[in-house]
Amino acid sequence: MKYNVIIVGAGPAGIFSALELLEKSPALKILIIEKGKDIDKRQCPMDASGAPCMSCPECDIVSGWGGAGAFSDGKLTLSPEIGGFLSRYIDLPTLQSFIEYVDSLYVKYGAPEELHGGDEKENARIKDLASKNDLMFIPSKIRHIGTDKCRDVLKKMREAVNGKVDVIFETDVQKIITEKKKITGIRLKDGKEIYSDYVILAPGRASAKWLEAEAKRLRLTLLKNPVDIGVRVEVPASVLEHLTGITYEPKMVFYSKKFDDKVRTFCVNPYGEVVKEHIKEIWTVNGHSYAERRTNNTNFAILVSTFFTEPFDEPISYGTYIARLANFLGGGVIVQRLGDLMKGRRSTHERISKGIVEPTLKDATPGDLSFVLPYRYLSDIIEMLDALDKIAPGINSRHTLLYGVEVKFYSMQIKLTDSLETEIKNLFAIGDGAGVSRGLIQASASGVIAAREILKRYGRP
Ligand SMILES: Cc1cc2nc3c(=O)[nH]c(=O)nc-3n(C[C@H](O)[C@H](O)[C@H](O)COP(=O)(O)OP(=O)(O)OC[C@H]3O[C@@H](n4cnc5c(N)ncnc54)[C@H](O)[C@@H]3O)c2cc1C
Repeated sequence: MKYNVIIVGAGPAGIFSALELLEKSPALKILIIEKGKDIDKRQCPMDASGAPCMSCPECDIVSGWGGAGAFSDGKLTLSPEIGGFLSRYIDLPTLQSFIEYVDSLYVKYGAPEELHGGDEKENARIKDLASKNDLMFIPSKIRHIGTDKCRDVLKKMREAVNGKVDVIFETDVQKIITEKKKITGIRLKDGKEIYSDYVILAPGRASAKWLEAEAKRLRLTLLKNPVDIGVRVEVPASVLEHLTGITYEPKMVFYSKKFDDKVRTFCVNPYGEVVKEHIKEIWTVNGHSYAERRTNNTNFAILVSTFFTEPFDEPISYGTYIARLANFLGGGVIVQRLGDLMKGRRSTHERISKGIVEPTLKDATPGDLSFVLPYRYLSDIIEMLDALDKIAPGINSRHTLLYGVEVKFYSMQIKLTDSLETEIKNLFAIGDGAGVSRGLIQASASGVIAAREILKRYGRP
């Protein structure tokens, strides 16, 4: 069996590679191998029965057609400064044009036309307000698909490739096969080998460890990435309405006074819900907002980025350790009122019920995050809440809820060329798994970048 291109992983990165190759050169023989299920078959047992996580061998939330993006909030952030590191490989104007291109494809496949955050005058006003209060505002246009509509968009993309690209589901790629530093194909779990001229690796964050192990086996150069650790904050939606009404996602960056750490807001969900996330046997916290369902609260993460230097270089293990500690003490995710944290006492169900913020995540355990988060992180978070309170009074309220912990793992970066090719000829690595993106738009753009380079080599610029 021989293909022109094999794509490993059907997340946004892999899907956009396939769409681009197909659109520009329909005669190419393309194979997508995906270890999860097709979009219609993806169903988390927790959704159907409300049962606790059953740690399925392949998690339907993060694996399958659409990848981790399938049940995501579908917030398309259209700024080159957000959602990835592609600006390390290409200049900002070119990256912006890739972003606009993939965004137009999302719209073609059903994302709404409406854009948030495009009012220059309002952005300048928020920037001014932020800078007077020690905060850096990063304006960005955002298209919001909504968790409920993401699936429809992905289904349309699936229909677009159906019958034109071979897709194998529920099959793991186990090994990358090379010969004299050139790609020759891949080996599946059952030992079967499939050959191709090009391989694009797009395994996502959940398989970053697999990719790292393969990269080490193939002696590829690996570069370090940070780990982001923090909490999810929940406040009444009215507290942030004057910002979310304009920008949808007010991204703020803050350098803490005590430690000079970079602290930032992340994934703002106006009128949204706090949710639990199960990653490799640990529970962390995240947030969603729906296009057609609203709560009275807005949630967002405050994250502290840490780059470890030496001798320690296991940021993923460190983040896992902190999350596991929260799970150990709280039996899952812990929730605490800010007022209780500041008073040095744990939250209880009774104290939370007296608060004005009703938790949207019902099964978080009231507890004490100061037993979980190291002093450095707590201090950074408290400082940022204080700064945010100056531009959105009410954030630093004793009623504000903090859920912990939120951890964002970044995959080890593989050394890549400007067209995302590895040190092995014709082997490309894209998306979150390769450490080049951390959001839908840049993951998708990375897929197009790799596809265009392959098309060029086939003489189809
Ligand atoms: C809860 C949640 C909410 C999010 N919300 C947003 C949001 O609103 N906006 C945003 O921009 N981003 C969001 N993200 C992030 C976004 O989903 C990711 O950045 C994006 O999906 C990364 O795309 P990817 O293709 O690189 O990887 P993934 O989407 O992770 O896809 C990788 C695919 O590869 C498959 N795979 C892995 N290893 C193998 C193998 N060995 N063989 C075969 N198949 C394999 C996996 O099963 C998976 O389907 C969210 C993520 C989560 C988890």
